Amino acid sequence: MRINESQLKLVNDQIQRLVASGNYFGRRLQEAGVTEVRTVEDFLALPFSEKEDLRNCYPLGASAVDERQIVRIHSSSGTTGTPVIIPYTEKDVDDWAEQFRRCYELAGITSEDRIQITPGYGLWTAGIGFQAGAEKLGAMAVPMGPGNTEKQLQFMVDLQTTVIGATSSYALLLAEEVERRGMLGELALRKGVIGSERWGKVMRERVKAGLGIQVYDIYGLTEVYGPGIGISCGAESGMHYWDDYLYIEILDPATGEPVPDGEWGEIVITTLVKEAAPLIRFRTHDLSRIIPGECPCGSPFPRIDALHGRSDDMVKIKGVNVFPRQIEEVLQDFPQLSSEYQIRISHLEGRDTMRIYVETDGTQDFLDLADAVSDEVKRRIGFTPLVKVVELGVLPRSEKKTRRVFDERYE
Ligand code: ZN
Repeated sequence: MRINESQLKLVNDQIQRLVASGNYFGRRLQEAGVTEVRTVEDFLALPFSEKEDLRNCYPLGASAVDERQIVRIHSSSGTTGTPVIIPYTEKDVDDWAEQFRRCYELAGITSEDRIQITPGYGLWTAGIGFQAGAEKLGAMAVPMGPGNTEKQLQFMVDLQTTVIGATSSYALLLAEEVERRGMLGELALRKGVIGSERWGKVMRERVKAGLGIQVYDIYGLTEVYGPGIGISCGAESGMHYWDDYLYIEILDPATGEPVPDGEWGEIVITTLVKEAAPLIRFRTHDLSRIIPGECPCGSPFPRIDALHGRSDDMVKIKGVNVFPRQIEEVLQDFPQLSSEYQIRISHLEGRDTMRIYVETDGTQDFLDLADAVSDEVKRRIGFTPLVKVVELGVLPRSEKKTRRVFDERYE
């Protein structure tokens, strides 16, 4: 999706702000000789930013405002090393709340609703994002925070909560608990706003049925406000995002070049009105695509598709970018296959080859099944893999995260 005139103007304002502040990113722009952005070409010449840059800014080096203007910080949980700290001005906090309010609104949630918030509060952006949006909407926020399922269920019944905010795993836990106790009839839940982890169709259906709700996926990351920068709608056809606050590009993660609308790649975000920590072309490493055309729901805001994992998982084969999730989706449509699979990529006779190992219950001839899977991958993803069907239980299982993709080209 090409950057438009008004977005370009806002990006230019962000560049001016950064350069004038002399912060980490401002200095970098100045060193690169970029102090103005007028055209699409100017924009595409801007350097990317990465989480690593934000680590280099620790603790407050990402700030483009006087520190007296900072009203709050959040921090993203680094698994290792230096944490990332994102400062917010009063306007940033308000802008974020407004975006989250829009998310609720798009999901059909109103000031009549009672929103039980189960994600965590604190340095993390989750709980407080749900909270600020709910207050701005005029709904009743029930700020539970995570855990304590007993009390969650009690409040859900006693307060007749109508909306639940949760991660998909906690929503599933609640759904199973409600089912186990047979207490669905006591609940007034109608909608769930669920954090945008990757989750499959089966889990989604269980949560919907178990809690009696419609579900909406919310998108966001601490570096760019937090959750609430996008949400799926009633059409269940991707997530709308607020293009007056953000410009989203989808780039080929390997080359950094834009891909056409509709094609998969990495989400790269430029903030348009952020004061304390503007980010230019921030590489999220989340994989999605722009969904072209108008959404059946009628919202004029553009859409990205549900996340397809991380760009770190992507492999390029025969000129086609492939994500394990795409293979997984094809395999899911074969009920005679188990959930286990293994992808091996190797370089044979001068060509990249993908072998997919799948397990079957034996109801179909192995060779026929292999051909059918291979044809389906060709049809949906655009290249022909070698498919090997094995008996149930042959592929290794692990209690931790099972490794499924092996790129043997570089081993
Ligand atoms: Zn829509």
